[in-house]
Amino acid sequence: MSRDSGRSRDETSIMEETEDMKQPVRPAIVRELEAFALDRGAYRAKIFSARLVAMDERVRLKCQIPLCPHYGRALTCPPNVPTVGEFRTVLGLYRKALMLQTRSPLGEENEDYDKDEVKKFFAAPGKIPAAKEGEEDIVAGDFRGAKAAAIRLHKLVNEVEGKAMALGFPYALGLIGGVCMFCSECVGTASGQACRRPYEARPSMEGVGIDVIRTSIKAGLPFDVPPKKEIIWSGLVLID
Ligand code: SF4
Repeated sequence: MSRDSGRSRDETSIMEETEDMKQPVRPAIVRELEAFALDRGAYRAKIFSARLVAMDERVRLKCQIPLCPHYGRALTCPPNVPTVGEFRTVLGLYRKALMLQTRSPLGEENEDYDKDEVKKFFAAPGKIPAAKEGEEDIVAGDFRGAKAAAIRLHKLVNEVEGKAMALGFPYALGLIGGVCMFCSECVGTASGQACRRPYEARPSMEGVGIDVIRTSIKAGLPFDVPPKKEIIWSGLVLID
């Protein structure tokens, strides 16, 4: 057992061997993945060192205090995802991270939103009323746009993760921002039912303790918090 790391000699040599087997993340691959994300519809995309992904236990704590309606319920939200400690450990095995974003413009200034309406939207994004013909409802339109951009981001994360795997990074791993919105309502843990889209659903960065605001700044892709004229959804693909 090594005194410095607490790892056995076998574990250390396996890790060194694994490091040797990794193909380099060459600049050409970085450019190809960023271009792929932009070509598939990302608003912005950037690859940066995975060491700059900021972790903070308080982010996960915010899922519980104040209690998010998705906590313990949605299949891709805490506590149904790796803990902050578990995720921090695996994050250390990745070399690069690709942050990608989608955008939906807002028709109203943020201060004009009814806070209860905003909370209702995030608690049940599948329940936004459909647009009525001839009726202009800017707020409902903004919520519909935000949901569409969130789903677009989720699909993009899946596609970029697949592309990275095809380029020779088998452990590429995608994470979304916020709750999974693929279904109008998640089956929920209490139902005992399986996820309807098991190979596509991904946990949120926040759920595993990633500080999305700080990470986006470090990646060079900052956004307004709270949003002013647009909602930016961010996702991450880790590259081994
Ligand atoms: S795909 Fe549907 S069932 Fe699966 S986590 Fe997402 S919302 Fe829940």
